[in-house]
Amino acid sequence: MKTSALKFGGSSLADAAQFRKVASIVKAHEGRVFTVASAPGKRNKQDTKVTDMLYACYDLAVAGKDYSDQLLAIRKRFEDIAAELGVQFDAEGEFAVIASHLASGPRRDYMASRGEYLNSKLLAQYLGYDFIDPATCVFFNADGTLDANKTNDTLGAVLAKKDKAVVAGFYGTGADGNIKTFSRGGSDVTGAIVARAAKADVYENWTDVSGMLSADPRIVTSPRPIREISYKELRELSYMGASVMHEDAVFPVMIAGIPINIRNTNRPEDDGTWIVPHRKADPESSEIVTGIAGMKGFSSIRIEKAMLNNEVGFAARLLEIIASAGVSFEHVPSSIDSMSVIVDSEDFRAARSQIMESIQERLSPDALIVDTGIALIAVVGIGMVYRRGVAAKVFSALAQADVNIRMIDQGSSEINIIVGIDEDDYEKAVNVLYQAFFS
Ligand code: ADP
Ligand code: ASP
Ligand code: MG
Repeated sequence: MKTSALKFGGSSLADAAQFRKVASIVKAHEGRVFTVASAPGKRNKQDTKVTDMLYACYDLAVAGKDYSDQLLAIRKRFEDIAAELGVQFDAEGEFAVIASHLASGPRRDYMASRGEYLNSKLLAQYLGYDFIDPATCVFFNADGTLDANKTNDTLGAVLAKKDKAVVAGFYGTGADGNIKTFSRGGSDVTGAIVARAAKADVYENWTDVSGMLSADPRIVTSPRPIREISYKELRELSYMGASVMHEDAVFPVMIAGIPINIRNTNRPEDDGTWIVPHRKADPESSEIVTGIAGMKGFSSIRIEKAMLNNEVGFAARLLEIIASAGVSFEHVPSSIDSMSVIVDSEDFRAARSQIMESIQERLSPDALIVDTGIALIAVVGIGMVYRRGVAAKVFSALAQADVNIRMIDQGSSEINIIVGIDEDDYEKAVNVLYQAFFS
């Protein structure tokens, strides 16, 4: 029998009606053995995710303010689901533990994790499966990264003893013994870890769209769904803002060669997207670009210096200055007498004066120019490998729409062209690029 690990996102488990859909999906195949659950998400556009409510409650507590209404509102989200489904739920006991934590030096990650913890317990009850608390089997290193080997061994041993179970997403135990979460959207990572540890044949990631779309549906109207995409293409797109799956969720399944199937909880009849280990570039295929993604919020630090290309170690010194200010860089486009570094504006803001002073001091540039308000757009596709004219098509589409290109970077992976443009042009640019490659 083929087995799957499933992960359901917040909108898939936002209320009792969604729980019913999830149960019918899980029970539809005997091989759907392990399920990872997120905290309840938004029930409608105006609603608030339980994770955000938990962060708000924590913020009030550390500020010494009254958080009782906020805590009550969180409790009500779970009580409503339990009552409507007729599931046993010890709200009194569970929230007494949380209240006592809040009263005595609350920790942010612990609070955030309670959304997944309680929702997964509820789902386990409703399905009649065991509940697995990842505090006992998902581990982080001291530097905050996942301890992949220890987690895989421990979780693998726990899962091997179970037929069916629900595992809470998003958190585990840190090197200091306290609860620690992944970054936002991290239940996707837990799902991938469970798929690997269970040696599942498929990782089914259930969300509120019928798979990965070829562009952000909030910008392009009804973008075409992607039927199949490689891990590598997915990484490029999710890193650049195609937020349907956490960009780190690829690693655990990549190690094990397990395909990911992104599906829609509200339309289980749709096939969704298959994310596979490898895709061959097919010179005959009409599909050149797989997807387009992007993000606002970047700045460029441009250095001009005559004969810069003759100066050995110039780039290394520049990047070292940026790294020692604790800022990571996105791109380093360069030409014969100039070099730019593209960085996240928010990270840069905090370290700006330190970086600017060091550059002046150590690199003696002819000119040092900072540009803010840059958006990056990535055009990604394995089909670009053997194809000429893809970059030309990108540039002419943007030129015709009167979008000024401020940076160009053809990713070293050869499956990626990245352009930097003004933030104000972002939505227009995504739309014209979509039209250029998909219609
Ligand atoms: P979940 O709560 O199930 O984890 P997320 O909200 O994290 O779901 O991710 C799904 C959302 O990602 C979609 O509702 C959609 O708005 C957004 N999204 C952004 N870019 C894309 C894309 N290229 N394809 C699909 N969805 C995208
Ligand atoms: N509930 C967490 C969040 O909102 C994790 C997740 O949804 O994957 O970020
Ligand atoms: Mg998500």
